[in-house]
Amino acid sequence: MLNMNLEIPQHIENYIGGAFMAPTNNQYFDNINPATSEVYSHIPDSTATDVQLAVVAAQKAFPAWSNASSDFRFRVLNKIAELIEENLETLALAETNDNGKPLWLSSKVDIPRASENFRFFATGALHFSSESHSMGNSAVNYTLRKAIGVVGCISPWNLPLYLFTWKIAPALAAGNCVVAKPSEVTPMTSYLLARICKEAGLPDGVLNIIHGNGPNCGSEIVKHPDIKAISFTGSTRAGKDIAAIAAPMFKKISLELGGKNPNIIFADCDWEKMMRTTVQSSFANQGQICLCGSRILVEESIYEKFKADFIARVQAMQVGDPLDENSKQGAVVSKVHFEKVMGCIELAKQEGGTILLGGKAVQPEGRCANGYFIEPTIIENLAPNCRTNMEEIFGPVVTIQSFKTEDEALQKANASEYGLAATIWTQNISRAHRMAAQVQSGIIWVNCWLLRDLRTPFGGFKNSGVGREGGWEAMRFFTEPKNVAIEF
Ligand code: NAD
Repeated sequence: MLNMNLEIPQHIENYIGGAFMAPTNNQYFDNINPATSEVYSHIPDSTATDVQLAVVAAQKAFPAWSNASSDFRFRVLNKIAELIEENLETLALAETNDNGKPLWLSSKVDIPRASENFRFFATGALHFSSESHSMGNSAVNYTLRKAIGVVGCISPWNLPLYLFTWKIAPALAAGNCVVAKPSEVTPMTSYLLARICKEAGLPDGVLNIIHGNGPNCGSEIVKHPDIKAISFTGSTRAGKDIAAIAAPMFKKISLELGGKNPNIIFADCDWEKMMRTTVQSSFANQGQICLCGSRILVEESIYEKFKADFIARVQAMQVGDPLDENSKQGAVVSKVHFEKVMGCIELAKQEGGTILLGGKAVQPEGRCANGYFIEPTIIENLAPNCRTNMEEIFGPVVTIQSFKTEDEALQKANASEYGLAATIWTQNISRAHRMAAQVQSGIIWVNCWLLRDLRTPFGGFKNSGVGREGGWEAMRFFTEPKNVAIEF
C-alpha cells in the first residue's frame, strides 16, 4: 500500500523526468472545489518551457522503454493498476473534490475504470501482434509495428482520471513515452497518478505530466515538432484548433469530441428497464458525459405516459453535497460551466421550449451553500433544428420530442452535426438492426446504455471526432506500421 497522504497538496507539481517540480515561471492558478466554491489548491500555469523539458525527458527515456520486453511493460503497467485500486478511497475523494461528482460515483465508476484501463492495456502489451500477408509461394509481407516516439495526450474534466488513463495506458503499452496534460479544471488525480507511477517503478521520463490551460500549455504540446502524435479528448471547438495545427505538421491525431446523442424510444420497449436507464443516461454525472442521451425521442403513442413517468422519477432525485451518499446528483464542474448551462436553459425558453421540470439553480444547506448545483431539467416543445437541440449543453438538461414512424425517428436522430453515440429501445429485433445500421453514430446501444467492452472501437462520426480508441484500435494508433515485402 502506498503511504499516500489524504491531505490535498497546496501546490500541485509537474512530473517531468521522474521529478516533481514547480512550473518554470512559478505561476499558479486556483483549484476550486465546485461543490463549495472554495479554493483548495493551486495548479501550475505551465508554458512552452515546461513542455520542452518534458519532451527532452521523454526522448531520453524512449530508447530503453520502447526496447524493453513486453513482459516488463506489462508488469509495470499492471502494478500501476494495482496501486490505483489500493488507493481507491484517496483518489475517489480527490476526484469528487475537483469535479463535484458524487463520491459514490467516483468510487464505483471513475477510479475502478482508471485501474481497469491500465490492467487492460498491460495485457495488450503482452498480446499485441502484427499482420502477415502471404502472396502464394512467391512472396510474403509482414507488418512491423513500432512505437511512434514521444506522443501527447490531452484530456477533459468530466471523467478526469478515467479518460486520462484511457489514453496514457495504450500509449505506454505500445512503447511510447508520453507528455500528458489533464484538464486544468480537474488536475488532482493525475498528480496522484504521477506519484503512483513513481512507486510502481515506471522508469523516469516515460510518462511526464504537466499542468496548465489549453492556450499556454495544451497547444504548446500540439505545436511541439518532436511530439509526433496527439490523442485528444475534449470539445469540438478545441479539436478543430488542434487539427488545424497538427495537419500541416503531418502528425497522427485521434480526436474524441462532443456529442448530442439521441435516445430513441419505441412503444414496444421493456418499459421498466428503459425508464431506469433513461434517467441514468440523461443525468449521470450531472449530464456531463459525452455519451449521455440529451435528445430523447419518444414514439407518439407512449409520449404522454413517458413524460409523466420520467418527470416523476427525475423529480425524486436528490441534488446536493457530493459527499452525501444519498445525493444522486452533485455539483457541475465550475462556475463558468454553471453559467454556460444556465444560459442554455434561458436560450431554450427564448426558443419557445416548455420547462417541464427543473431549470433553476439549487442551493443546498451547509457546506455546499455556495456550490454550483443545477436541477435536472426536462424541456419539450422545441423543433429538432433549434439551437437547444443542435448544440452540446453538457449538463443536466434534456429535451424530449415525439415521432410517429421509424423514418421520422431516424431523421430526427440524424439531424445533428454530431455523431458520437445513440441508444435504441425496442423489442423488435429487425427494427433494432435497421436503426443501428442507419443512425449516424460511432457507438450504438440497443436496450442498454454505457455497456462498455474495452476491446471495442470507441469514437464518433461527423463533428464528434476523428479516429477510434479502444482495444487494438488504440494500440494501432500509437504505433507506426511498416510493411516488409520479401520475394522468395
Ligand atoms: P476542452 O476542449 O475545453 O478541454 C479539453 C482539454 O483540452 C483540456 O485539458 C484543455 O486544457 C485542453 N485544451 C483546450 N483548448 C486546447 C487547445 N487549443 N489546444 C490544446 N489543448 C487544449 O473540453 P472540456 O470542457 O474539458 O471537456 C468537455 C468536452 O469534452 C465536451 O465537449 C465533451 O463532449 C467532450 N468529451 C468527449 C468525449 C469523447 O470521448 N468523445 C469524452 C469526454 C468529453
